[in-house]
Amino acid sequence: SSLRDRQAEVPSDVTWADVGGLEHIKKELMETIQFPIRYESKFGKFGMSASKGVLLYGPSGCGKTLMAKAVANECQSNFISVKGPELLSMWFGESESNVRSLFDKARAAAPCILFFDEIDSIAKPRGSSQGGGEAGDRIVNQILTEIDGVGVKKNVFVLGATNRPDMLDPAVTRPGRLDQLIYVPLPDHASRMAILHANVRKSPLAPDVSLEEIAERTDGFSGADLTEVCQRACKLAIREDIARASAGEPVSDSQRVISRAHFEDALEA
Ligand code: ATP
Repeated sequence: SSLRDRQAEVPSDVTWADVGGLEHIKKELMETIQFPIRYESKFGKFGMSASKGVLLYGPSGCGKTLMAKAVANECQSNFISVKGPELLSMWFGESESNVRSLFDKARAAAPCILFFDEIDSIAKPRGSSQGGGEAGDRIVNQILTEIDGVGVKKNVFVLGATNRPDMLDPAVTRPGRLDQLIYVPLPDHASRMAILHANVRKSPLAPDVSLEEIAERTDGFSGADLTEVCQRACKLAIREDIARASAGEPVSDSQRVISRAHFEDALEA
């Protein structure tokens, strides 16, 4: 949908069960986002002010967006997602007003998590050669002002995601802003197992499929790569089932499964 029609809603399609691995990050996000709301008075007593935002960073396709949606679902919070470049406009002042209306929308939908994917594209270091020039500086200023104006009291939490945390204006991650930095790494063996499990949890697998072995063979794959392997294997199985049916072959349920051979082909593709 276009930026103007973007609706705030509780994501219904992603839960923690869809996110493989990353257990400590799930916990950290719940604590950061939910504790200050649930245990407001404790925060006061301990002299702790709640965080307004988190920056998720790390390689592409490892679950940053997925996790942002899942945490909104788990907190039953509304969710608005935007990619940084969508906010940019060539017209004078329009980028800033896009940012402003996005935060207005989030406040109106509170409790709301506002997710900025590719935040580096709109938060380049001000006044520097890597920056976005005068227009770029204005949008960064607008974002900083808006972040300063939200928080627990307004029930708006800001989540940013980037592959390039080094390319952000340092003011964005100062205390009181996106001051909690969470690294979302490429999955290790155990996480690859968890991601594979999350991906096939609704699919019938043949007994000869070893997720353990697939995890072993996919060192260096991102979560997105693993999802693609599973989807490809699934498509191959469906294709075979359709071919059998149209050839008039009798097919039993035990044959309607994703087999080792399907995964082999998917891994080779
Ligand atoms: P980018 O930096 O490119 O935006 P990202 O880290 O936000 O990447 P996601 O959009 O969350 O990545 O992941 C892309 C897809 O890869 C997801 O929709 C999901 O299908 C799969 N995926 C990635 N990580 C995981 C994971 N930990 N568990 C299950 N699926 C995953």
